[in-house]
Amino acid sequence: MDHFLYRNGVLHAEDVPLAEIAAQVGTPFYCYSAATLLRHYRLFDEALDGMDHLVCFAMKSNSNQAILRLLGDAGAGMDVVSGGEYARARAAGIPGERIVFSGVGKTRLEMRTALEGGIRQFNVESEPELERLSEVASSLGLTAPITLRVNPDVDAKTHAKIATGKSENKFGIPIARAREVYALAGRLPGIDVIGIDVHIGSQLTDLEPFEAAYRKVAELTRVLREDGHNIRRLDLGGGLGIPYTRSNEAPPLPREYGALIQRTVGDLGCEIEIEPGRLISGNAGVLVSEVVYLKSGEGREFLILDAAMNDLVRPSMYDAHHDIVPLVEPEPGAAQRPFDVVGPVCETGDTFARGRDMAALGEGDLVAFRSAGAYGAVMASEYNSRPLVPEVLVQGDQWAVIRPRPSIEEMIARDTVPDWLGAELD
Ligand SMILES: *Cc1c(COP(=O)(O)O)cnc(C)c1O
Repeated sequence: MDHFLYRNGVLHAEDVPLAEIAAQVGTPFYCYSAATLLRHYRLFDEALDGMDHLVCFAMKSNSNQAILRLLGDAGAGMDVVSGGEYARARAAGIPGERIVFSGVGKTRLEMRTALEGGIRQFNVESEPELERLSEVASSLGLTAPITLRVNPDVDAKTHAKIATGKSENKFGIPIARAREVYALAGRLPGIDVIGIDVHIGSQLTDLEPFEAAYRKVAELTRVLREDGHNIRRLDLGGGLGIPYTRSNEAPPLPREYGALIQRTVGDLGCEIEIEPGRLISGNAGVLVSEVVYLKSGEGREFLILDAAMNDLVRPSMYDAHHDIVPLVEPEPGAAQRPFDVVGPVCETGDTFARGRDMAALGEGDLVAFRSAGAYGAVMASEYNSRPLVPEVLVQGDQWAVIRPRPSIEEMIARDTVPDWLGAELD
């Protein structure tokens, strides 16, 4: 459930008509609902009730300072995957003891920054990383709390670009080699082994792969304890999927996911961490755009929007579906016809939907892409010299721009021309 609903025939974000924001901010823009974000965070928090736990928001899905502050105030931790994300989390006021550091390519500088600034744990993904972290921590006279990310070799049955738990993926340590690598970790100076980490992929719509992975984690916990490791924390990753269409089968609920965690690892006496991103932020955001032209092609009609693949890349990158709805609700039973919904970028890949049945729309009409709160603004670029798309947060009847649209001049001013190129053209 989200808080983007038609009221008196116009689409609102909570109590604010989206058209009102469009009139002031211009299009395209992202708009997030605070109530939806908080609701999703609390669903996870409640699903783990009765277990010692921390819900760490995977901030790569949406890393705006206002969003981090909102979730951090509610008690969330953060899962970060770069030094930039670590700095963003700290800037939003998230304490180090609530930040976990994931990712396959952590650099010395990133390790040092997190060790000095405070960190809950590093999720280490390889032996070279483990050795590097040991070196960096020892040289600072500090100890790095770690889990090892194990790759359980289960098929997440999701899009190939976001499946991470098969042995052929770049992520984690093959579970068959886990004992050996834990033994190494146990011997290294500056390393404190505290637990196990697993993350098998994103947009999972079935609990079965989670179940298979978590059973393997439970078994490994017992084995590692017998080997003498004090395994006291399990990071079970993120990945629970969301409905991207109103019509399709609903993915499992956080409550069912929580019950699965309880059932598979609940009896081990470990602290539980999860790292949901998409399920918290995905349906808490929309991308609002204006129709620039309606163009007729060979047996097709193109709806050309002012939003493009640089603003929302998921359709071109992952063949993702987003529902696209008009801000003015069509009359019940209004005739629909198929449109190809495209952006203005000079690539055929800049297509949001093909042959999508929609009620008649014309130039100047506004539409909203639903489910755009995760992996939307964070993946935006300035391709085609289109300034970064702005972001807005709504809470009840209040709204604020939480990232303004840069001017074209600001965008250009970031480039510098070396002296040796001369001051002017001649
Ligand atoms: C991307 C990622 C997540 C979040 O995945 P969602 O599908 O957005 O829930 C969690 N943990 C790690 C390590 C990730 O890379």
